[in-house]
Amino acid sequence: MTATSQKGMQARRVSLIRVFSLTGSTILALFLLLCWLTYSSLLDFKAMFNDVAEHSLPDIVISSQLYGQSSRLLEATEQLSKSTSEAAKRVAEQNIAEYLDYLKNISKKRFHNEFLDLQLDIISLEISEFTTLIKQKLLINQQLKDKENAIHKLHAVALALEPQLQENAQLGADYQWSLQLSRTITSVNRSLNMNRLQEVRQLFRQFNNDIEVLKKYAERGEHQDQKLRLTNNLAQLILQDEGLLPLKIMQLRIDGRVIGRENFVHNLIQDFARLLEYSAKETEQKVTDQLSKTVQRTNKEITLIGLVLTVGIVSLVLMILFIQKHVIIRLQSLNNLVKSKIKGDDITARIKGNDEITDLANTFNLFTQTIEEQQIKLEHMSLSDGLTGIANRRALDIRLLHDIELSIRKKSHVAILLMDIDCFKLYNDNYGHAAGDECLKIIATCIKHALKRSSDFVARYGGEEFVCILPDTNLAGAKDIANNIMHSISEAKVKHEYSTVTPFITISMGIAVSGPDLVLLPDKLLSRADKALYVAKDHGKNQFCSDDTTQ
Ligand code: GH3
Ligand code: MG
Ligand code: MG
Repeated sequence: MTATSQKGMQARRVSLIRVFSLTGSTILALFLLLCWLTYSSLLDFKAMFNDVAEHSLPDIVISSQLYGQSSRLLEATEQLSKSTSEAAKRVAEQNIAEYLDYLKNISKKRFHNEFLDLQLDIISLEISEFTTLIKQKLLINQQLKDKENAIHKLHAVALALEPQLQENAQLGADYQWSLQLSRTITSVNRSLNMNRLQEVRQLFRQFNNDIEVLKKYAERGEHQDQKLRLTNNLAQLILQDEGLLPLKIMQLRIDGRVIGRENFVHNLIQDFARLLEYSAKETEQKVTDQLSKTVQRTNKEITLIGLVLTVGIVSLVLMILFIQKHVIIRLQSLNNLVKSKIKGDDITARIKGNDEITDLANTFNLFTQTIEEQQIKLEHMSLSDGLTGIANRRALDIRLLHDIELSIRKKSHVAILLMDIDCFKLYNDNYGHAAGDECLKIIATCIKHALKRSSDFVARYGGEEFVCILPDTNLAGAKDIANNIMHSISEAKVKHEYSTVTPFITISMGIAVSGPDLVLLPDKLLSRADKALYVAKDHGKNQFCSDDTTQ
């Protein structure tokens, strides 16, 4: 397999830290966006409500108040126009001044609209002229009333003359004068209720004729002077510059001007009210537009917030699923693998993918592999003898127990040979310790080679002592092996000039056997072999002896 194809088969590297920081940053960004959107939405609402509460609503309320006030101003001008006395006129004037002041103040303070202020100034000016007109009208009315009273007094004087006239006159000139006077005064009364200037002017001509006729009748009959004086007075009261008819004409003219001026003032006030109404409507429209715009914007923002929230939640769920699938489950399986490994299962942590957790699994595998290697080394070191390379005393203890237990189960024999190099102290003392070590190695090799079965076992028991375990071997078999060993050592011909036995290295051996008839546990078996060894030493060395009780 080439390096490229191996690379291709390897899972693509996905760094969990990168995935988490990317997803985390996205979620954080979405969260910040969400906060910002919500905050800006609230700010919009706050600004709108502030504007409505501080400006628009008070504007609408004040506009409607001003509208009401302008209606009252309208009523007051009507009251002024209808006022028939100075007192009524003053009350109306007072009300008008009050309403106008209020309108001017509020309009100036609230609207800062020059056009409204100008309109109010014009209204104020027109009302003052209107008031002057009303004043004139009341004066003329009063003068007319005075003239009317004077005429009625004159009529009363004329009527007082009538009995004297009737005595003499019968149907003569006096009676005619009196009748004509009454007719004229009736016409005068009628003229007071006239509304058309043309009619009054016609009456003017008629009164001229009537006066002429009255004068003619007055110059005849009784009391000519009195009649003439009364006729002249009547003519004066009716026709002269300050007379009833000129006053009536002036009254009708002023009435016309009052109506015109009143209409004008009404129109001005109504215009002003319409302006206010328009301004209120405009403000209302502005608020409605503002509200609808804010609502539209808020709707958009809510949609956006919803979208961001959905994306955020989806990202979060995806992240949780990702963590569940790629982190938690894999960490759990890694944890189980680690536990199994600790229990002693021979497994390798295999985690799919190519990320930090895979790295962790690989590191763990490397770590356990190193530990295992070290363990094997340690175990080997703890069970083998450093000098000769064969098993040590610890290994012997384990093996001996195991083989005895096995022999008990199998009801077979297990023999041990306990060997000790003869005169080894002398060897060391004379050839040196290093030579002694070399000698020990040769002896170990000789013993190893003398053993036949793979189940046979040799260990260094102590300084220059060795033990062989021979499973399934009775005393006879053990003796055979003992002979083999001794032969093998003698064949090696390791020189030992200082030995008290032979000029070559020799060993002595003690044999002990555990069998179905007499089961011996390790300590006992070794102790018996030891005893046998000492017997061999006692008997002159370079020989083996067996335990007496051993069969
Ligand atoms: P015997 O024939 O009665 O067994 O006498 P011996 O001299 O062999 O016995 P002794 O117990 O008096 O001496 C054993 C010697 O073995 C003492 C020691 O110097 C030597 N020896 C023990 N272990 C080692 C070792 O690892 N290397 C070397 N070179 N010598 C060892
Ligand atoms: Mg010894
Ligand atoms: Mg010895």
